[in-house]
Amino acid sequence: MLLGIAGLVVIQNRQARCAAVPFLTRELLPNAALLPGEQPHMPAGWSAAAPGVELQGSAGKGFDYNHDGRALQLIGIGNYVQTPPITVQPSARYCFTGRALTDSAKRSATRLRLIFDWRDAQNRPLGVNMTDWQAVVLWQPEAPPDDWSAITGAFEAPADATMLLVQLQPASDDRVYLDAMHVQRTTDDQRPATAAQPLPLSVVDHRSPIAIAPWPNGYRAALSFSFDWETAMGGLIHSRSDDPNSTENPQARGLRMREGITTTLRLFQPLGIRATYYANGYNFLFGNPERRQFMNNPTFAWASKANGWPTNTWTTTPWFAKDPYGAIQSDRSWYFGDLIAPLQRAQQDIQSHTFSHFSGGDATTADWQRDLQTWRTVAAERNVPPARSLAFPWSRSNGMSYADWDALEAAGITSVTRTSWNPKQPQYRIVSAADPHCRPIPGHERILACPDFYLHSQETAAQALKLLDHAIAVSGTIDLWAHTEEVTSPEQIAAWGQVVRYAAQQRDAGTLWIAPLAEIADWQAAVAEVSIQESGVRSQNASDQLKFNVKNNSKQDMNGLTIMLPFKPKQVTVDGHILTPDSWLLNSTVLNLPAGQTLEVQAWPA
Ligand SMILES: [Zn+2]
Repeated sequence: MLLGIAGLVVIQNRQARCAAVPFLTRELLPNAALLPGEQPHMPAGWSAAAPGVELQGSAGKGFDYNHDGRALQLIGIGNYVQTPPITVQPSARYCFTGRALTDSAKRSATRLRLIFDWRDAQNRPLGVNMTDWQAVVLWQPEAPPDDWSAITGAFEAPADATMLLVQLQPASDDRVYLDAMHVQRTTDDQRPATAAQPLPLSVVDHRSPIAIAPWPNGYRAALSFSFDWETAMGGLIHSRSDDPNSTENPQARGLRMREGITTTLRLFQPLGIRATYYANGYNFLFGNPERRQFMNNPTFAWASKANGWPTNTWTTTPWFAKDPYGAIQSDRSWYFGDLIAPLQRAQQDIQSHTFSHFSGGDATTADWQRDLQTWRTVAAERNVPPARSLAFPWSRSNGMSYADWDALEAAGITSVTRTSWNPKQPQYRIVSAADPHCRPIPGHERILACPDFYLHSQETAAQALKLLDHAIAVSGTIDLWAHTEEVTSPEQIAAWGQVVRYAAQQRDAGTLWIAPLAEIADWQAAVAEVSIQESGVRSQNASDQLKFNVKNNSKQDMNGLTIMLPFKPKQVTVDGHILTPDSWLLNSTVLNLPAGQTLEVQAWPA
């Protein structure tokens, strides 16, 4: 009798946690057994956003939780696994359970989240629910974990829902194995298994009559100009085979990188444009006669022919071995310390292209920590503040582990660019110029990844102009970049000049905000923390006045915050003070909202 009661209690707890309870609740997930279908290496009915998802577990390959010879491998921060369509009843509650494990090559645990994508009978999206990010345990040969991590989530189907798709999304490029996945109905009305409350159902095409515009001062899009700026010690001496200038003398290229400071400032200064110069560590040095050793002068085994280098030299040569240990006067291509003050005087932004110009996806987490710290140290010697923005060398963000992203976040990085764009590897892609918006890094949402476009020729200048028009059309943002060495020939300067002048025209017409990438990302992050509360009951009558509170929950003062109104205003007051007509634009009003403050806005339609 006692046993029976104890058993019952256990079953209820397992249901509350949404764990699989065989024989008691029916399996609703089609092909939960992961039986292969017509597609090779994929279970029938299952799908993925990109390559990197495949059946494993058979014949000792990979891992298998439930000993049936099958598990699913998932690789890539731009990827997800999607279940077959699950038939659901409106307003019923469903839970997903599964098991996950990572055998990350970088020895990093990672995270996953579940996305419940509800559809109606016509397969129209009704909105999504997302769980919190959930821990995925690390498998190590010398210390295997006691168990795989449980991944769970439970949500209620919206009215009209007839179908559910569950997506499993990773928060890094660490390889994950998924197994023992189940979907069941649950009658348990307690809170779902994840610690955080589920996000409210996001309804497609929901529009509030009052909205916050994405960019300040009524600008419709944001543009950043930036440069990867490297001495010979950057990507020049460490050049990869796919570098268009790889066969040239690194020192000649270093001198051109220098010259590019003069030529780009000449383009920007008359137009009052501020750009970002992504610098490596040696850019901050006046020389190195004292033979300082940086980052323990590492040797990187990944800098091999197999990974795209022309030779295997760097697999056995310490990374900074070619330092001439000289001074600027004798070795002008190796040290750019003299160029920092002129850039700062010109109000240009200096951010990180990493200290070492290493391959971020291949470097270890300890390499990252040393690199970020060393960059900060040498930058501080030239009075440059710690970097908040980082451009990945060679766009090699593919391979970033969860712990690597932790290291970037801990170092205060809030925006990244030059993330992996390789069209053959969409599983690693976070953003793309084709969809020009900065996006939070999955699992590290305080870091925004911003799309870029490589502007280095007359032909790419023409494409850049089209991209700018597109960014304006979709209220997006884009970074246009080159190496400073690529803005030195008359043709290159002409190509850049054409785009810079067009951008300045758009800015002067009130359409385009031009700012350093870090500031654009800061603004986007702060806008996401602005909330609007309508005070009192608003009638449906469009001629009635509007009264609402705007609160800036961010830590940034927001000057030029633009609020879209459902009408063209005749008068606007802020905390009772009448705004002058020039402070509102057509159908909008522009406010200065300090960090942490709330303003009460009233608007009367014209
Ligand atoms: Zn570079």
